[in-house]
This record gives sequence, C-alpha cells and structure tokens, in this order.
Amino acid sequence: PDTVRLLSSSQVITSVVNVVKELVENSLDAGALNIDVKLENFGLDRIEVRDNGHGIKAVDAPVVAIRHFTSKICSHEDLEHLETYGFRGEALGSICAVAEVAVTTKTEADDVSIQYSLDSTGTIVSQKPSHLDQGTTVSVTKLFRNLPVRRQFYSSTKKCKEELKKVQELLMAYALIKPELRLLLVHNKVVIWQKAKAADDRSALVATLGSGIVPNLLPCHQRQEQPKQARGIIIDGFFPKPGVDCSSTSSSTPEKTFIFINNRPVHHKEVMKLLRQHYSAQYPEDSARHRYPIIVIKITVSPSAVDVNLTPDKTQVLLHNKEAVLTAVEALLVSLYGFRPG
Ligand code: ADP
Ligand code: MG
Repeated sequence: PDTVRLLSSSQVITSVVNVVKELVENSLDAGALNIDVKLENFGLDRIEVRDNGHGIKAVDAPVVAIRHFTSKICSHEDLEHLETYGFRGEALGSICAVAEVAVTTKTEADDVSIQYSLDSTGTIVSQKPSHLDQGTTVSVTKLFRNLPVRRQFYSSTKKCKEELKKVQELLMAYALIKPELRLLLVHNKVVIWQKAKAADDRSALVATLGSGIVPNLLPCHQRQEQPKQARGIIIDGFFPKPGVDCSSTSSSTPEKTFIFINNRPVHHKEVMKLLRQHYSAQYPEDSARHRYPIIVIKITVSPSAVDVNLTPDKTQVLLHNKEAVLTAVEALLVSLYGFRPG
C-alpha cells in the first residue's frame, strides 16, 4: 500500500511548481488576500506558503491530509457549479507522501496557532502551539526525497532556474485574476518578485507586468449569449493594440500569454494557436519574431460546461462547448486585427 500511495501521489505532485500551485490554490480557497511563497534551494529543500485565510479548525486538522478529504464539495452536484480551485482532497495527502509536511494554522476563534507535523500518510504525529497570526502556513521540506529519479530531474541549475521562473509565472497569473491579492516570492531569502494589492484589473496588470507594457495593451470585453446556457461566453482581457509590437521572442520569459478559463490559469493549445495566428498576421514579413504576444485572456463559461478533472494538475480543461468558445475568441481577434484565416 505504501508503494501504491507513493505512485499515485507522484502522479498528482509532479514538480516544485505543482506543489506551489496546490498550496496557493488552497490559500485562495481559504479567502486569503496575502500569500507569501518562500523557497529554499529552488524548493527542493523547502517550500513554504503562508496565507492570512480563514485557517483550519482544530476538529478538521486530523483529516485535512487524509486522502480524499475535502471541505469544499459535499455532493456530486457541487461539481456542476464549482467555485473553488480544489475539490478532490488529494493535494495535501499526496504532498505528504513525497515530502515532509508541517501545517501551522489559526482560525479567528483560536487563541494561538497550532503547528501540526504530518507523516507520509497525512496523519498528525505531533503538535505544538506556535506564534503565527490567523491563517495557514504549510511547509514542505525534502521534496521527492524518496523519488531519486524525480530529484535527479533538478540536478542542473538550468532546470532549477526554469522551475523558479514557472513559479513566478504562476503567481503572476493569480495576480492578474485576483487584483486584490498581495503576493510575495522569495528564493533563498532574496525577494524574486512581489505584487501589491491592486484596485482593478488594469492596476493589477501594471502591478504584475510593469507600467511599460500596459500602454501597449487594449482592454477588451465581449459577451456572447448561448442558447440554453445561463452565462453565455464572456471574454475579457488585454490584447496588444493593433499595429503595436507587443511580444517576446521566447516562450520562456515571464511576459507572455496568460489564458484563464473560469478563473483557472490553464494551457489551451487551440486558444493559444488562435491568439498567435491572429496577432502575428499583422507581421507577415517576420512572423517568427512575433510568436509570443503578451495577452491576458479570461474566458468565462457556465461551470457545467467545463471539466477541470482532465489532468491531475488541473492545468488542462475540457470545454463541452469548445467550438463555440473558439468561435467567440476568433470573432474578438478578427474585430481587433482584421485578419480572416483561409
Ligand atoms: P482540496 O483543496 O481539493 O479540498 P487539499 O488536499 O488541497 O484538497 O486540501 C484538503 C483540505 O485542507 C481542504 O479542503 C481544506 O479544508 C484544508 N486546507 C488546506 N489548505 C488550507 C489553507 N491554506 N487554509 C485553510 N484550509 C486549508
Ligand atoms: Mg487543494
């Protein structure tokens, strides 16, 4: 059973950025407005995520890291109108199987915070009072200590630096989707990136991507009614102004295309392809240089039209109305850049 647990956990928890994503999403689900992410040795020695969310009640503490415990959904129907990032109750338990985990938490009703140390099965092995304010801090040490091959993956500094960049991009994505969020990323005690609380989408964009880029971007909003669907398809975002070069030459810089579906940062090949195709059509002479436009696109559809359960890391989604969504995105791009393929 230990081997089975390790194998299935290592499928859910694949990388440093993946651990950070699960912990940050838990913080967001707990209503946190301040989230600090601190890494040591690129997260391999230590990942710590501290939030000021509602905390974990003492009665819940023994079960939070037990496989399939979730406080977020009660029934199958809840999946149809999912408003939280988490719903499978899989992350904390899986992290426990591949690292050492301690959770320190304090709710509004508690006098002091309690630090719980968990074992590889997610069971509390010890607890002691601690001094933190309301919220939750999860610390993950010795990641993949029992998965030498996974650990080996990070043996080159290049890989480690790429991973750190991905962590930053991930935090930038949440910064763009939740303007009110205050975020901090520290690596080996050095501040790598931070973002103050912002009042609206535009200020969040400035705070996240810098003031230099923002004058080149155009806010867009489009709403398309869909038969039989309450919300229709809503597309919001910021796109390069027509005729203004607003792209980076590589896909690996933090300034890039951010795609969200129902507030989740996702990878979506077909949406990405459309964005790049329409943007670079403005530059027929050297399309290669313009491959990576800086775009923020937020697609909102009815929650029942999305299946986020496609991959363990929830970064890919299945859209039941994919064709309609792609048509809506394309219509917006045509109206912006005037390019009609084919
Ligand atoms: P899920 O997010 O799918 O519910 P997780 O394994 O990520 O599953 O978390 C299990 C449970 O632990 C959550 O449902 C929540 O009740 C609690 N929890 C985890 N992290 C936090 C946090 N930062 N603040 C408050 N509660 C948390
Ligand atoms: Mg979760």
